[in-house]
Amino acid sequence: MNFAGRKDDYMPLTPEEIERYNRQIMIEGWDIAGQERLRAATVFIAGAGGLGSPVSMYLASAGIGTLRICDCGETEISNLNRQILHDDARIGMNKALSARQTLARINPNVNVIALPEIITDESIAGLASDAAMIVDCLDNLETRHVLNRYAVSRGIALVHGAIQGLSGQISVFHTPHTPCLACILPPKIPHGLFPVAGVAPGVIGLLQATEAIKLLLGLGSPLYGSLLMWDGARADFQKIPICRSPECPVCGGDAACK
Ligand SMILES: [Zn+2]
Repeated sequence: MNFAGRKDDYMPLTPEEIERYNRQIMIEGWDIAGQERLRAATVFIAGAGGLGSPVSMYLASAGIGTLRICDCGETEISNLNRQILHDDARIGMNKALSARQTLARINPNVNVIALPEIITDESIAGLASDAAMIVDCLDNLETRHVLNRYAVSRGIALVHGAIQGLSGQISVFHTPHTPCLACILPPKIPHGLFPVAGVAPGVIGLLQATEAIKLLLGLGSPLYGSLLMWDGARADFQKIPICRSPECPVCGGDAACK
């Protein structure tokens, strides 16, 4: 599976890049060719908060060539227990712009495009542009469905993550190989301020970053057709099979559960 363009048309890695990525290039199935593919890839990260922090920091350190990171919010002191892209000096600063500063320090080779914008059905195509995939690092269901509709329309992967308290969940939605978000979640769920331990987006965000890298490399088996649930209080993971819904308003009509 090749998410990053035509094969064999990548610029070779520089000696500095080979040294920087030496330990991951050693992984079987990753290799220099995979690293070149990562550098050629564009990933859209929706949200620069709790999940967006570890996702973007690890995708930057892994050498993804272009990260488009979108967040219209500003850093608040109550974000800082978990949103490790930001710090006290960035309070009041737009989170996408703050993210770009942090990510440039982690890996100056990565092209970080900061998008301080609101994600809507009208704006998403311009924001995600030519991204090979979308990583869902949002905290509200309505906008997650915007990402889902767009991902289904383009046939690209949506790496979904969500957290609450000391728990979380992740899945990779990639129709027609998998159900989509709308197959398993309602259009909206009312919620107010919910508790979050700082480690929860760390755990789930790193699983999302892992899935994104695997997809770009074509390495291993993506988390298709399952919701991986993490219960931090019990130190427990559970993998729950999920199915396409024939009634799904976004991808329905081809029900299948593999
Ligand atoms: Zn669906």
